[in-house]
Amino acid sequence: MKSLKELYRIGAGPSSSHSMGPEAAALKLKELYPQAKFKITLCGSLALTGKGHCTDAVLKRVLGDSAEIIFDYERENLPHPNTMYVSVIKDGSEVASHTVLSVGGGRIVFAGETLAETPEVYHHNSFDEIKQYLSDSDLRLPDYVFANEPDAEEYLTEVWEQMKATVKEGLNAEGELPGVLHVMRKAKYLWQSKHIGETDEIAENRMICAFAFAASEQNAAGGRVVTAPTCGSCGVIPAVMYYMKKQHKFTDKQIVRALAAAGIVGNLIKTNASISGAECGCQAEIGSACSMAAAGLAELYDMDIEQIEYAAEVAMEHHLGLTCDPVNGLVQIPCIERNAVAAMRAINAVNIANFLTYTRKVSLDTIISTMYETGRDLSGRYRETSEGGLAKLYKGK
Ligand code: SF4
Repeated sequence: MKSLKELYRIGAGPSSSHSMGPEAAALKLKELYPQAKFKITLCGSLALTGKGHCTDAVLKRVLGDSAEIIFDYERENLPHPNTMYVSVIKDGSEVASHTVLSVGGGRIVFAGETLAETPEVYHHNSFDEIKQYLSDSDLRLPDYVFANEPDAEEYLTEVWEQMKATVKEGLNAEGELPGVLHVMRKAKYLWQSKHIGETDEIAENRMICAFAFAASEQNAAGGRVVTAPTCGSCGVIPAVMYYMKKQHKFTDKQIVRALAAAGIVGNLIKTNASISGAECGCQAEIGSACSMAAAGLAELYDMDIEQIEYAAEVAMEHHLGLTCDPVNGLVQIPCIERNAVAAMRAINAVNIANFLTYTRKVSLDTIISTMYETGRDLSGRYRETSEGGLAKLYKGK
């Protein structure tokens, strides 16, 4: 398996290919040509869904308002479905040009460069193998991560700082999200609407939902988020962890360890199945995020490896078959609410694991394989094409 840095990425939402990749390209262009102006032509999918995904806004945020962004809906024979043509301008004349491809997961390639393969840093590729190794060595999952990736603790601290910042920004923001759906932000309302006589249980659900909405709305608005494991599912883990810090006073260091445990589950899903809604439906995004959050929370509560496995397994099992049908291709309906529901489910999965772990029948490895097979069997209409489900039937009411 690869580094957790490949799983948890920090960048501009709402899409790793449509905003994180272009943001990375813009940062590189700015570094190469600090004094220049830029004309960028977005083609293929970057043109077709770039407005709803804030591609132009993200480019301007990095390159400044002088950057000219053109949406070219017609150009064919592109080297990649997500292609940008960049013209670098100084003193009114073009001094250089680049073709930049956003190849997924926030990665970019400047034409002429080859996409270097990222190295494998974990030698175990199943939860059973890891569990066996841990029982032989008396380590916990975070220790396993830090032994394999010596700089992971530092990186995950950065990840956690960004998650907290994203939630805080989302809780303070108001107004409408970008795009044709005119969806209003709700995180602040949820956060502030304490009811008279609210029970602890209702307060817990309200707060967790507020935190999940906050991160997911920041994502929808093109804000800075952490893929956990994707942009669309970026609210689940921050919601659970932010709540645990705020209400139950877990330390940042403990939460960084929880993110390491969650990362191993995400990495296993990414390696042995998929974390892509386009490949396996929303079960691969929200189901994976829920499974990761459950593993992280179980680690936070110092549960044993069997309980961590069961929590992650339960969280994924009850998302099997979940379709990806974003209305108008925007990461808003049903995505934002779905993050909140999954965050609450992660907590429920840990509660079940607390009582029932030693009666279980299904392993995490089995459920990951099941999710993959189910996802491959899903009709293409339910794999991020917006051609089926809610995306097809929703007509504004
Ligand atoms: S519905 Fe699709 S776009 Fe939305 S969170 Fe799920 S997988 Fe991502």
